[in-house]
Amino acid sequence: TLMSANANNEETEQNEDTIRPQRLDDYIGQKDLKGILNIAIAAAKGREDSLDHLLLYGPPGLGKTTMSLILATEMGVNCKITSAPALERPRDITGLLVNLKPGDILFIDEIHRLNRMTEELLYPAMEDYRLDITIGKGQTAKTRSIPLPPFTLVGATTKAGALSSPLRDRFGIIQRLRFYELDELTLIVKRTAEILNASITEEGAIEIARRSRGTPRIANRLLRRVRDYTQVQKAETITDELAAMAMDLFDVDREGLDWTDRLVLNTIIQQFNGGPVGLEAIAAATGEDRKTIEEVYEPYLLQNGYLSRTHRGRIATNKTYQHLGYNSDKPSQT
Ligand code: ATP
Repeated sequence: TLMSANANNEETEQNEDTIRPQRLDDYIGQKDLKGILNIAIAAAKGREDSLDHLLLYGPPGLGKTTMSLILATEMGVNCKITSAPALERPRDITGLLVNLKPGDILFIDEIHRLNRMTEELLYPAMEDYRLDITIGKGQTAKTRSIPLPPFTLVGATTKAGALSSPLRDRFGIIQRLRFYELDELTLIVKRTAEILNASITEEGAIEIARRSRGTPRIANRLLRRVRDYTQVQKAETITDELAAMAMDLFDVDREGLDWTDRLVLNTIIQQFNGGPVGLEAIAAATGEDRKTIEEVYEPYLLQNGYLSRTHRGRIATNKTYQHLGYNSDKPSQT
């Protein structure tokens, strides 16, 4: 494989900020979410209050960080971005909290991975804008309370179910982000192309959108690779033909499945007779991380009918057999 569509690379990170939409009106798609947040913003502004704590969940790359930054812009406050793995010691979270200004947003990515101590510091902080710190140890230990400014916690997670219920219950708004529709992704590709100064036809944008697994981050990443390819071919404009050639080269197929998607599906079919097979066994056989399969690859495959999930494990569907070019349909299960 030449390049995985999900591989991280530095260039992507560098250009990220110029590509992110800045205002709610520029944020394409996610109509339900935008509707709810529009009301929350107007209400909070009317009361001169901070926004309710917000939990955003859904697969990676759908725009959770982007939305958090937009909320800060709309509210006229700052947004501090961190992630649960960076909040190992109690002082990591307390340091962030005491430095917030009234109304600020604290964005915590992968919030389901907070350790117990950090999570318990967050409860009174979220509920009463209060930090309870224990000083000393054992019998002489004392608790001190420090008042915090009103702030908004925006938590992001791939799985809302992985959050403890006391933490989940402290969010006023809990919203799921959905995979984007083809027309929405096409708009995103065209918008990003304009920012990157790349000329693209409507069909070219559609071709990239079609292979983006419903995910803006992947759409933008593919667009950059296709732009490079087009440039090396000495063409002026990205057409659907050039886009298709480039993405074939990068091993992103007509349905947007990449090398790892196909590895997972082929493994289920070839080594496990189409399933049912458990996640652990798939991870071991493919050498991919179990969590990555579950949180990054599987949601799109499930939603689009390439996989189905039963209590006994994952099953490859007829659509999978056909898409991957197996002659016969799925053998019938006994
Ligand atoms: P993670 O869950 O891994 O933190 P994320 O879901 O927060 O990722 P972002 O980093 O916010 O994803 O979005 C990835 C990129 O996709 C952004 O840089 C932005 O340019 C683009 N993007 C995301 N959502 C939209 C949208 N609704 N409209 C336009 N562009 C978007």
